[in-house]
Amino acid sequence: SQTDEGLGAETEAEKRSREALEKQRQKEELDKKEADIVFEDMDFERMEEPPNESQNKRMTTAAEKMNGETPDCEKMTLEDSDDVVTPWSVTSSSAAGVDYDKLIVKFGCRKLTEELVERFEKVTGHKPHPMLRRGMFFAHRDLSAILDRKEQGKPFYLYTGRGASSGSLHLGHLVPFIFTKWLQDVFDVPLIIQMTDDEKFLWKDIKIDEAKKMARENIKDIISVGFDPAKTFIFNNLDYMCPPFYENVVKVWKVVNNNQARAIFGFTPEDNLGKAAFPAIEAAPCFASSFPHVFGKRTDLPCLIPCAIDQDPFFRMARDVAPRLKYPKPALIYSTFLPALQGAQTKMNASEPNTCVFLSDTAKQIKNKINKYAFSGGQPTVEEHREKGGNCEVDISYQFLRFFLEDDEKLEEIRQKYTKGEILTGELKAMAVAEVTRVVLLMQERRKTVTDATVEEFTAIRSLAYSY
Ligand code: ATP
Ligand code: MG
Repeated sequence: SQTDEGLGAETEAEKRSREALEKQRQKEELDKKEADIVFEDMDFERMEEPPNESQNKRMTTAAEKMNGETPDCEKMTLEDSDDVVTPWSVTSSSAAGVDYDKLIVKFGCRKLTEELVERFEKVTGHKPHPMLRRGMFFAHRDLSAILDRKEQGKPFYLYTGRGASSGSLHLGHLVPFIFTKWLQDVFDVPLIIQMTDDEKFLWKDIKIDEAKKMARENIKDIISVGFDPAKTFIFNNLDYMCPPFYENVVKVWKVVNNNQARAIFGFTPEDNLGKAAFPAIEAAPCFASSFPHVFGKRTDLPCLIPCAIDQDPFFRMARDVAPRLKYPKPALIYSTFLPALQGAQTKMNASEPNTCVFLSDTAKQIKNKINKYAFSGGQPTVEEHREKGGNCEVDISYQFLRFFLEDDEKLEEIRQKYTKGEILTGELKAMAVAEVTRVVLLMQERRKTVTDATVEEFTAIRSLAYSY
């Protein structure tokens, strides 16, 4: 209990400690304010409200700092009147598919220009991969910064992934993985591959064990693309979630609020909590400190992520939070979608098996699927076709050739002849069947040599062939 004496009087010691506390409080407030300003430069709060003048000024500064790149945060809308591109759905009203130029503007990433492809060749000394030359990889974020690092001999790593919703990969998944394998050869850097079995458990009606099992089967397909075990770490979230990784997940959780998550991913109040929590788990591998067995104590290594552009929302978020976590922003290189058999209005999508050619399909199944379903840009009759010619832009067989046929001249010849009506739809389909079968059988040959022991080799917690 207090005496009268104690009430008004403050001892010297008490005064000093009170002042010290007050100072500390003021400092914390200032730090917090600064952090908020950094974050506001980058973040998505303005989705909710139009920016005021001071925010506008900060946005301009942020844009200038990014060397002309539209701040990631600025372009957050997921849907256009015609095209829908989200990590869970891709649809277009056009038979030629998504309007990718529009998408670049909408998402705020940058076009992968011919000049940049030329610089890529100059810096790496490698002739660009057909998917790069032909514009399948068409957009990026900060790719120039990665090329700068390559030029200066500074380290970085590659990161990509897959959420297994089918026992086997489909042809569309080969696009990022084939390209990633090529990048691994060209850059000679570590590669991290995340299997989001937790995501599939949260989104689909499947059991944990099934999700893990599919991830494991998919890992075998992925290994068959030809990755180097000394340079590649593959993990599935449900088994890997270790303290350093989890720390990055909670750090991301702390700096993204529900409104922002809703604006980026379109979550609704009815969605389960796990869905809102998941994006941080796909973002965490962007930060090297999630993998101390690979990167040691380094937290300053950026990554380059090759994937299709539907994954952009995750990495916009990751890029927006990175400065606040004092990590470098991930760089991205984005591909277009390999279309569904039925036409480019949707992408080949594991969740809809009839749209897919799977890597587990037999030669006979591939032939049947393409002959029966592959949407044709040809004319209804041979006479009309000879007269008017076919439309390669909407023709799925041609699109498959565009992704997988390596010979540029042959591809161009096919394009010209089909457009003029010199090649008939049946002939074009036969060429697509041959090419797709070649790719799939090659994968199947390699897959035979991938055992459980091979999977253990790639998924073991270990250091890779690099020291930091
Ligand atoms: P799900 O239906 O379960 O979502 P999915 O077929 O969409 O399966 P994901 O696991 O979501 O496949 O994607 C894995 C990787 O493959 C991502 O980088 C994604 O961008 C890419 N990808 C998926 N479908 C295609 C496609 N049709 N063309 C090119 N890339 C694709
Ligand atoms: Mg998907």
